[in-house]
This record gives sequence, structure tokens and C-alpha cells, in this order.
Amino acid sequence: MVIELKHIKKVYDKNGIEVVKDFNLTINDKEFIVFVGPSGCGKSTTLRMIAGLESITAGELLFDGKVVNNLLPGDRNLAMVFQSYALYPNMTVYKNMEFPLIIKKFPNVPGKKVSRKETKEAREKRIKEVAEMLGLTEYLDRKPKALSGGQRQRVAVGREIVRDVDLFLMDEPLSNLDAKLRVQMRTEITNLHRRLQKTFIYVTHDQIEAMTMATRIVIMNDGIVQQIGTPKEVYDMPENMFVAGFIGTPAMNFINGKVTKDGYFTNEDIKIKLNDDKFEILKKNEYIDKEVVLGIRPENITADNLEDNERVATIKVENAELLGFEYNLIFHVAGSQVISRIKAANIINPNQNVKLHFDLEKAHFFDPKTTIRIR
Ligand code: ADP
Repeated sequence: MVIELKHIKKVYDKNGIEVVKDFNLTINDKEFIVFVGPSGCGKSTTLRMIAGLESITAGELLFDGKVVNNLLPGDRNLAMVFQSYALYPNMTVYKNMEFPLIIKKFPNVPGKKVSRKETKEAREKRIKEVAEMLGLTEYLDRKPKALSGGQRQRVAVGREIVRDVDLFLMDEPLSNLDAKLRVQMRTEITNLHRRLQKTFIYVTHDQIEAMTMATRIVIMNDGIVQQIGTPKEVYDMPENMFVAGFIGTPAMNFINGKVTKDGYFTNEDIKIKLNDDKFEILKKNEYIDKEVVLGIRPENITADNLEDNERVATIKVENAELLGFEYNLIFHVAGSQVISRIKAANIINPNQNVKLHFDLEKAHFFDPKTTIRIR
């Protein structure tokens, strides 16, 4: 199913604040779209408008080319999985999954009378298929209280899948699970998407979920779409400092400084030679002798390539977090905290001076006022 959002807006009565502002997006058939952003940025509201659970203040919502703004949720042929889901405690897994089929009068063949036996068989076949897909086959006779959290979550998903809909909406479905299970369920949901070949829209505040699951990510802040792109696009080419800082852990470092006319980025602590292409971009946009923000990811400040000495600075380590195969070195440059990620070859202690290479090839420059990437 193709979903189009055209200039979608949402204002919840009273205060008149637009919590979703001019949202535009075309979701292609079979995509796995993730809405990500901090709490309160309007992700759930947007999802709920797509589901029909919330009215659309302005704009158009289309499913396969048809405007559905006023279609009831039950007529939208979609399924929704929430963070908190209620299974029927007195029913077995099988019965929990059968329930939506009873409501839908599955298999419901138009113009044909389906016998009771055929109905039972068709439902059983469908439930078993889905149970198999979700690894629930051996639990079909159990009641929810005899299942782990992850298994219960799978039943909640299963109960939606049996209905065979065209669109899956998921709102933070994993946030009640512990960290290990979340990682496992992440893979299961992406596998499920691959098998079902349906359109998925998934809401999360967790950028790692977004990066690992999405075909495309929609990053939101304050009701405004900041960027739409594949995980690689938003990671490598963030449109602005919000996206740059939101995607990736540890976050991208931001260092204030100036561009000199002989091609350096400099401040009171460091002086780094700009790559030709970066210098050209900054020159073209008239940033010579002006303040800019250097955005550089921790993995691009390393102890490698130290022979490239015009891009090496000596810094004083404040904290060295050993993570096993690598260190996070924490220090300050021109008043900003900076993290570098280096291989844990030697032992590094706080207060030690370390030479680090700034790989500007993969860095970005941002305008300090507009926060937009200079390109
Ligand atoms: P997110 O899912 O990104 O955490 P929401 O879409 O839930 O954000 O909320 C966006 C904004 O809308 C928030 O400021 C929230 O307080 C407000 N909001 C959400 N639901 C309602 C409601 N029913 N009435 C009024 N304001 C609401």
C-alpha cells in the first residue's frame, strides 16, 4: 500500500499549538518507515492520524491514491501494535489469535456460503501459519500469564498479522522489553516485514531502532520533519545539527571555530587543515574568516594516520572509557566536550596527552545561526 501525507497538520483543540506542522511524505509499497525523534515531537500523533484514531486538522492523507481523511479506522485495512497491548488473559494464545478472525468473520468469501467446518479449518490454517512465522507454535495452548514478555509481545503482533492487512502501524512496540529482548525483537520484526511484504510504519524515540530497522527514516523535532532518508543518508549527510546530533552514539561532536583564508579550521585549541573540497564549499558560501561549527563523529577522530600531521592535534584526555576493543576518549576543545573513539591498543589514562587525527573527509560544517549544513 502506498501512503501519501500531503501538508498534514495537527492542532489539538484549546491551546491552538500545531503539534504536527506541514508533514509531507510518500511511503512506497512495502517500505519500512520509521518516525523517530524525542518525546513529544509528534510521532504518535502522526501515526494516529494515519490510523484514523485522531482527526486530521489540515492536509490530505491518501492510501493507494484515495483520500482517506474521513475513513473510519476499521475501514482502513490496517493493523496497529502499541507499547502496551492487552491480551485476553483467560484465553489461550490460539484463542487470542483467533479472536480477530471471528470479528472479521474470516474467511468470509463474498457470495459463497462457507460451512462451519471450512471456517474452522481456514482459521486454524491461518493461525498456525502465523504462529510458525513468530515461533509460537509450541505455545498455542498456553495462556498469556505462562509466557515471557517477548512471547506475549509476539502474540500481540500475531493477533494483528492473522487479519492479513496491507499496512502495519507500530508505536514503540518494544519499549516495555528489556534491552536484550529488544535487540532480538528488532531482528524478528525486520524479518517479519521481509516475509509479509507489506508497508510498515514504526514509531520510536530510539535512533538505534530507527537505524537498524528502517528502509527510510523520518526524523522529527517539535512537530517538524527535519530530514527523510535511508539510514546511511541521514548518518552520512545530516541536513542540520539536530539530525547530526540525534543519529549516532556517541553523538557527533560539535566544535566552534573559524575558517582561515589559507584553508584551516582553527580555534584557541586546534588548527586543522581543511580538505580541498571542504575548503571550496566554505569559500563558495562566504565563510572565510567567519564562525562555523565543525561536526565530526567520534570514529573520525582517531590515533590512526598521524603522519597526516596538518590534521593532528594534541589533546589532554579527561576521561578514557575502555569498552573492550575500543576507548572513548573524552576531552574538551574550545569549550566543547569532544569524544574520540580509538582502538584500545595501549592503556590510556586521564590527564595523558594524546595525539589525534581529525579526519575532515567525513566531517561537516554547519552554520552556527541556522544550524544548517553548509554544502
Ligand atoms: P511523540 O509521539 O513524539 O512523543 P506525541 O505525538 O504523543 O509525541 O505528542 C506531540 C505533542 O502533542 C505533545 O506536545 C503532546 O503533549 C501533545 N498531545 C498529544 N496528545 C494530545 C491530546 N490528546 N491533547 C492535547 N495535546 C496532545
